[in-house]
Amino acid sequence: MRLPGRLVLLGHPVSHSLSPTFQNAALEAAEIPVRYEALDIPPVDFERAIDGLRALGAWGNVTVPHKERMFDACELHTPIADRVRAVNTFWIDEKGHLAGDNTDVGGFTGAVENLLGGPPHDLTVGVLGAGGTAAAVLAAVESWHSCYAHVYNRTPERARVLCERFRSVAQPIDDIGVVAGCDLVVNATSVGLRDDAFPMAPALIAPTSAVIDLVYRPGETAWVRELRARGHRTCDGIGMLIEQGALAFERWFGVAPDRSVMWGAIRRNG
Ligand code: NAP
Repeated sequence: MRLPGRLVLLGHPVSHSLSPTFQNAALEAAEIPVRYEALDIPPVDFERAIDGLRALGAWGNVTVPHKERMFDACELHTPIADRVRAVNTFWIDEKGHLAGDNTDVGGFTGAVENLLGGPPHDLTVGVLGAGGTAAAVLAAVESWHSCYAHVYNRTPERARVLCERFRSVAQPIDDIGVVAGCDLVVNATSVGLRDDAFPMAPALIAPTSAVIDLVYRPGETAWVRELRARGHRTCDGIGMLIEQGALAFERWFGVAPDRSVMWGAIRRNG
């Protein structure tokens, strides 16, 4: 098995991240002698940090706000990273090329499968938000059988530009009520990250809709707690976080991690 010189998470800020907790638990369980460490890299230092890490043979993950710049820094991309135009997982290949993947897409699909109890198909998907995470959501919807997304964003122009890239499966909408009536409702905004704000009033959402909040906080988000109390099938962003991390682990080491070890580490320390 090839091993990295270092295994890192690059973000800003990054101290709150749960990734070191569950990645280190999985590395130990798999007896891979590498530690996963979070590095806080301010945007102004990004290029210099990449040069230094490349010289050390580092592999890793990338989070907010560096995913698009990491895409630009990589010499090779997987097709899914090309589709999203963002990289959250990188490594150095046998020829010394910096290579990038986007496991947020598969991570989102995995979380939806867990929520719905099987592969998503024949769904309308209501997406709140039009940032980098919404792009990963639309790339996932594009890979599902017979699904279509309606995208609502605070800044309508951003939703229009995003949907233009995914026009066979997504359209921008001005009426948040359309999102509320979809089979699956997705919060891909950052609303609820720092407080108990709701991205959409729960009473608006159709009683039969499943709802996935990609934000996560200790004890779940207030929105997810309220939706569950109202009888919706719902979950927060922890499932996607673990699933994207598991796919990254497999990409680096060629073996799947023990997901139950990852979940256990989050439950104990998250
Ligand atoms: P981003 O590119 O900065 O986009 C942020 C989105 O949130 C934009 O659509 C923005 O709307 C919207 N927004 C922010 N504040 C808002 C407000 N007060 N009211 C309404 N809309 C608001 O961020 P991103 O990378 O897409 O990430 C979004 C969130 O996804 C993150 O905060 C994180 O919690 C979550 N996430 C979760 C995972 C996971 O594994 N679970 C992975 C990645 C991201 P405007 O365009 O109008 O500014």
